[in-house]
Amino acid sequence: MAGSRMKLELTRVVQGRGRLGVLKGLGKTGQHSLEVPGCLLYTHLGTVPHLTQDTLHTLSKLPSVTQVTLSQIVEHQEVLEEFKDGFRKFAGLHDTVLYCSLHDPAAPCPTGYTTNKTVSVWGSSGRIELTVAKFMALQKTVQPDWYQSMADGETWQNNASRKRVRKSVDRTLAHLDECLLVHQNSQELEAVEVFGVVEGGDILEERVRSARETAKRPVAGFCLDGLQTGSMDQALRTQLIIAVTKELPEDKPRLLQGVGRPDEVLACVEAGVDLFESFFPFLVTERGCALCFSFGISPDLERAVRASPAVLELNEEGDTARDTQLNGDLILDDQTQMTYFEINLKEKRYQDDFRPVVEGCGCYCCKNHQRAYLHHLLVTNELLAGVLLMIHNTAHYHGFFVAVREALAKDKLDVLKRGVLGERGGQTERKD
Ligand SMILES: [Zn+2]
Repeated sequence: MAGSRMKLELTRVVQGRGRLGVLKGLGKTGQHSLEVPGCLLYTHLGTVPHLTQDTLHTLSKLPSVTQVTLSQIVEHQEVLEEFKDGFRKFAGLHDTVLYCSLHDPAAPCPTGYTTNKTVSVWGSSGRIELTVAKFMALQKTVQPDWYQSMADGETWQNNASRKRVRKSVDRTLAHLDECLLVHQNSQELEAVEVFGVVEGGDILEERVRSARETAKRPVAGFCLDGLQTGSMDQALRTQLIIAVTKELPEDKPRLLQGVGRPDEVLACVEAGVDLFESFFPFLVTERGCALCFSFGISPDLERAVRASPAVLELNEEGDTARDTQLNGDLILDDQTQMTYFEINLKEKRYQDDFRPVVEGCGCYCCKNHQRAYLHHLLVTNELLAGVLLMIHNTAHYHGFFVAVREALAKDKLDVLKRGVLGERGGQTERKD
């Protein structure tokens, strides 16, 4: 491996942990960069669901890194091998950095299928078992710019025993060492970067051990696995992330897998996470909903926020109560539930609502259509509903990340948090 070109330059660290900066030197020639905290572009086989490349590029502020998932690519290995020029060209992606992860964050993976030598991924025709040799052969075929190393991440359910968690950390380190060995001897992967995976379930000592050991290896960055929405409450997640990031070098990025809800993103940014996967707008779109939460940090909003008694109560205790309330009924398919950050446009009340989804939003959907029209498309099952919702949800979500960076830069993370979380308390459009 010719040494990592990827470099994280931090411009600001807020309260010792929240990091603002730019990830530089991305892509084969190092010409791309990505601002952090930020997210990757979520795709199915290189395509943002519902959107063509043309439609996608009507949106501004898109991330420079596209995420593809091995579980979706694995079934096409033979075709890709025949094609020879890698997945980026195969999928018609041009000016983007390609990141290849193991699992799809929007499709929870059944557990109970890992062994000492293999992990399983689920493609459209069922389970596929990967050894390190097969995993690395796939990476050579895909030719990403970075990839997540093979990992045993089956300890995210809170009933995993200490013994099982320890085994998952050991296996993941062994997989990483084997992957690195193949990687270092492979010409095709010379300019490609590897992200090591930090496991450890909900056991603090195992998290710390996993982080410390992974940091000793020649990796470009770290994936924090097994902390996804539905696996634990935010207080525990924050505690584990703080312990883990203390063990990781300052100049390498930390990518958190499986967390996308805005309140959780904010808490994880404060705990020291740099990168997220942007599957959340897709989940929202799939349930026929539209993201509708405030993330402005302008003085006007600040005044409005201060004037709201519900928001004034949002001290630390208030946050904990809210998180308990939100996470109180943890179930494994938690991600399918509607959240406080969206509105369900199928509801009858929207049939004569002639406002855009979000007033002032600059996306194509909000500039051209009203809630009533989207309601009509949804109740008649028109495909355009998914297209328009995905345009808005993607624009809104990436706009939120721009606001997070601005808030960090201007020391206004608290204002942003009150804006984002305050709506949850005061919102009249919530489902329950
Ligand atoms: Zn919009």
